[in-house]
Amino acid sequence: MVTLASNNARNATLPPLQGERTGKPAFAEVDFNLAPFIVIWEVTRACDLKCVHCRAEAIPLRHPLELSFKEGCTLIDQIRAFGHPLFVLTGGDPLKRPDIYDLIRHGDEVGLRVALTPSGTQLMTPNVIQRFKDSGLSRLAVSLDGSCKEIHDTFRKVDGSFDWTVASIKEARRIGLPVQINTTVCKHNLKDVRAIAELLAKLDIALWSVFFLVPTGRGLRGDIVSAREHEEVFHQLYDLSKEMPYDIKTTAAQHYRRVVVQRRRQEVAEMIAQGKSPEEAARIVQQNAIPKIARAAGYEPGGWSTGASRGTGDEGRGTRSPAVPAALMSPADKGAPPQMQGSAEELRAKIARMRAGGAPEFVVAKLEAQLHALDGKAADGSAPIEFLTRQDTARADAALDIGRSAKGVNDGNGFVFIDHIGLVYPSGFLPLVVGDVRKASLVDIYRDSPIMKELRAYPKLKGKCGWCDFRDVCGGSRSRSYGITGDYLASEPYCSYYPPKPKA
Ligand code: SF4
Repeated sequence: MVTLASNNARNATLPPLQGERTGKPAFAEVDFNLAPFIVIWEVTRACDLKCVHCRAEAIPLRHPLELSFKEGCTLIDQIRAFGHPLFVLTGGDPLKRPDIYDLIRHGDEVGLRVALTPSGTQLMTPNVIQRFKDSGLSRLAVSLDGSCKEIHDTFRKVDGSFDWTVASIKEARRIGLPVQINTTVCKHNLKDVRAIAELLAKLDIALWSVFFLVPTGRGLRGDIVSAREHEEVFHQLYDLSKEMPYDIKTTAAQHYRRVVVQRRRQEVAEMIAQGKSPEEAARIVQQNAIPKIARAAGYEPGGWSTGASRGTGDEGRGTRSPAVPAALMSPADKGAPPQMQGSAEELRAKIARMRAGGAPEFVVAKLEAQLHALDGKAADGSAPIEFLTRQDTARADAALDIGRSAKGVNDGNGFVFIDHIGLVYPSGFLPLVVGDVRKASLVDIYRDSPIMKELRAYPKLKGKCGWCDFRDVCGGSRSRSYGITGDYLASEPYCSYYPPKPKA
């Protein structure tokens, strides 16, 4: 392992690790067994907001055992020793640390691209934003959970947060600092997704990162949208990605990648059915400015951008794509759902009884999620988009070059999180400590922790995620599986896709 000693570290001798050739994290080059694609450090938990879904369960004052500036610089040097992972400073509110500018500067000086996620408060003045830029910040990432004050401020539980956030976005863009917006989709803002997207189109942002709630910290299970609603929002995001002037990706929703692949396959298959060659069809789909999967996957854990294209004329499209032409459908290839096991059937019957008896929604939601994780048919009856025939799927995949880059970032797999006191986790949403940077190097923890290794061993996934044909590119949210079932290898509880079971 290489440890950089000082701010002159840019000149230090480093091994040619992932992304070294380009100076940027090249997704396809990164071996997730050796290095993460993205590292997030929670510099503090102190924050003035009291957000309803706060992962960190933020507190008003800084913790006395927070990593010091010196420890932080050592950590940054270790992160650099991985190569060039994306590096995010988060909180709490990072602005609660007076040394935040020096930490940004150190990250920049050792050659990392540094992003920061400040809270939307009055602390975000024009002077502060300018100092971020002057310190070498590459991207400002701010949270916006509603298209208006009423929705956003209710989320953040502080009046004025919406106005401060929008003002800071405008100021950052005015001085040329790239901006990313983070939005957490849950029951409170489910109907506001399009309105948020349209607001962002006016704010000149680079990326919209759409999080899906994980039940950890203050995030409540009952606020999670259903599997069907996940699916509907994924299709909506895919459609929006074609009309909005910024990239869109998801976090803690790895199954969005499945929808992207399905939609692209479907579009190619439809064009082939209309007489186009596979190559021409693929070219048109790619011309619609859907970036290469390898590039699109590379932003953040769970990230999967479908890219942005302007003027594709897709406005007003529904959240579901048109049906596959009948000629392309084959009942034999539709992949019948696996047989439900007795326990799943019992659970389904129990859910029906509880619903009929008027049980609280959050209780029913928990049982539904467990049923999802058991493999089998979605508890809410939701279904994925239609399957293509195997032949047409293979044709579309070959034309689209799907397969070569069939991997995606997931918790502990291309991603690692360090909390404010130096404890290491597979992600900020998966509360399992895998090490302590005060006792061991981050590089060793990432590579050698038994939990991290297991999270990267996708054949160990249980239930339908274990046999899913999208397993390598998706794998389901390990955090959500853990949050719902207590087992980080269980099936993603909020995916309505039931993959064809491999023949024994
Ligand atoms: S079943 Fe699991 S691996 Fe397959 S698409 Fe759903 S979440 Fe992803």
